[in-house]
Amino acid sequence: MNNQDLLKIAEEYGTPVYVYNTEKIQEQYKKLSSSFDEKTRFFYAAKALTNINILKYVQTLGANVDCVSINEVKLGLKAGFTPDRILFTPNCVDITEIEEAMKLGVHVNIDNISILEQFGNKYGDSYPIFIRINPHIFAGGNYKISTGHIDSKFGISIHQLRHIIRIVKTTGVRVEGLHMHTGSEIKDIDVFIQGLEIMFQLIEDFPNIKYIDMGSGFKVPYQDGEMETDVKALGKKVLKAVNQFKKETGKDFELWFEPGKYLVSDCGTFLVRANVIKQTTATVFVGVNTGFNHLIRPMFYDSYHKIENLTNAKGKERIYTVVGNICETDTFAWDRKINEVREGDILVFRNAGAYGFEMSSNFNSRLKPAEVMFHEGKAHLIRQREVFEDLLKNQIEVL
Ligand SMILES: *Cc1c(COP(=O)(O)O)cnc(C)c1O
Repeated sequence: MNNQDLLKIAEEYGTPVYVYNTEKIQEQYKKLSSSFDEKTRFFYAAKALTNINILKYVQTLGANVDCVSINEVKLGLKAGFTPDRILFTPNCVDITEIEEAMKLGVHVNIDNISILEQFGNKYGDSYPIFIRINPHIFAGGNYKISTGHIDSKFGISIHQLRHIIRIVKTTGVRVEGLHMHTGSEIKDIDVFIQGLEIMFQLIEDFPNIKYIDMGSGFKVPYQDGEMETDVKALGKKVLKAVNQFKKETGKDFELWFEPGKYLVSDCGTFLVRANVIKQTTATVFVGVNTGFNHLIRPMFYDSYHKIENLTNAKGKERIYTVVGNICETDTFAWDRKINEVREGDILVFRNAGAYGFEMSSNFNSRLKPAEVMFHEGKAHLIRQREVFEDLLKNQIEVL
């Protein structure tokens, strides 16, 4: 998929539009899976991008799926994942949502003492579960996306291990999996090794363990000079530690990971149009026909997305602040060098596949954008742009 393909898509389907290139997903999946042995399983963290076509595509690659809500579980089933290829990892849901997942036959990961106790009392050893441990390893690029630190709401603190064991013993609940997910954008692969060592210690306390799930945190480069997590080196290091542990202890388990953005970030681009060029005393703004309601990452996580001008790619480079059309501070990029932007130019935001459309909203009563999948050389519309009626769809007029 090149820039000409993108321009054609912008012309045919209008802007703003998200475009996903399946070839890139496959490339990432192969890179990751070939860095480990064939027994290691990868659970695509669906929340990054849940369009049913993407889920189906990921399914055909042989990946499994990690779901954080019962609706993601249902989408996973609809996409063709069998229940044994689905892991349900919710946070702060009530027991009924867990029970719904149970009825669907998927793996269930419990992340707090209260539910563990309720579940154990009710079901004993009749349905094996995972436990999500918070190892209190600080990892990840941004406090908002780091989940392993001491103040995090995720998982059961490793310091509560005695309590967990007491519940497991008294209720007889069968723990087959241990899980941790310490955050996103981990640069230092030794964090995974640190996590693994904690898991190895925990295995002693849980005799029925079949699965060790190390979550995600694989970093992708957003700006020039940034690195992608070196999955080759990670695979080597992790497998070495795992195989050595297995040899020494005679224990066996499957190793799982849950990549989200690693699989789908770079596959996605977001095409927008420059509405207005606005020179102020301080800077030159490019006002585009979208806002943080469509791509919230820059405002929410201070994330960086490369921006290029597709319709004036040879223009003289100038410095711009790129802003959206939402009535609130809505900046996509500060002081960015871009080929001269004229009103009407089509700009592309790179690395927009993960947590892009997925986190979009109707703020300011604006319509959600379209999604297009570029697959085997052809563009397919996979979600139509919303229309005005969609804004009123669930509203009930009583006056
Ligand atoms: C969000 C999430 C992931 C994926 O994180 P990425 O940074 O997108 O790879 C994996 N596991 C769990 C439990 C998550 O909540």
